[in-house]
This record gives sequence, C-alpha cells and structure tokens, in this order.
Amino acid sequence: MGVLIGQNVPTPGLAFALGVASHFMLDLIPHGDSQLYTNYKEGQAVNRSLIYVAVDSALAIIIFIYLLETAPYASRETMIAGVVGGICPDFLVALGEGVKIRPLLWFQRLHIRIHNAIASRVGNISLGMGIFIQLVLLAAMIFIVKR
Ligand SMILES: [Zn+2]
Repeated sequence: MGVLIGQNVPTPGLAFALGVASHFMLDLIPHGDSQLYTNYKEGQAVNRSLIYVAVDSALAIIIFIYLLETAPYASRETMIAGVVGGICPDFLVALGEGVKIRPLLWFQRLHIRIHNAIASRVGNISLGMGIFIQLVLLAAMIFIVKR
C-alpha cells in the first residue's frame, strides 16, 4: 500500500503520513493472525510465528521491488517514504518487544487495540481466510494502480 500511495502523492512527507494512516486502516481488516500473536506473546508456537513473519516479509519485499521497478512515472522518494510510513507502526511494535520504554508500550497497546478493533467485535477469522482477504486486497490495489 505504501508504494501505491507513493505513486500518487507529490511529496515524501505526505507519502509517509498516508503510509502510516493506511497501516492502521488496513490493520482494521481482520487478518486472522491474532492467535498467532497471542501464542508468540505466551511463548507458544514461537517458531511458527517467526516463520509466518519471515514469509510475509519476504513476499512484501518481492512485491515492493516489483512495484518499484514497474512504476512508470512515480518518484522513488515518495514510494519509499510511503513504504517506510506503512512499515513504521509494526517496526515500533517490534521495537517495543525489546525496548520496554513507556511510549513504545503505549504505542503497542494502541496498535493492538486498532488491529483487533473489528475482530474482537465480530469474532476472529481463520488465518487462511485472513491470508485470502489480504491477497484479494493486494490484487485489487495492484489492479487499480496498474490499469
Ligand atoms: Zn500493524
């Protein structure tokens, strides 16, 4: 989403801000990964969680490079700023896992509250359904930008 935002805004600052905002908007859509995170926090199935994150990150990098390399007119600066903004919230959450300072812990709680806002009200979905929804959203975003 950060790359796609960066392709359509004029400045890196705006791309970064919209990247951060898009992160929270997309986090609202249930991912089916809440149990994965709970297990990780409780020290259960840690390897499974780490493999999931590694595969997710590798796919994100591949898609990022594809979108970066195939963007016809857009500025690399704004696309990279959009991606950095989109990654920033999860980076701060991960940083909070290691560096237990009050602002990061506050941010972690806010992030989780937003991440689980819909899933905790309507019930969570399976991880498989979460991955399916994300792939459909990704395909739709790429289709809209590439048409
Ligand atoms: Zn997030």
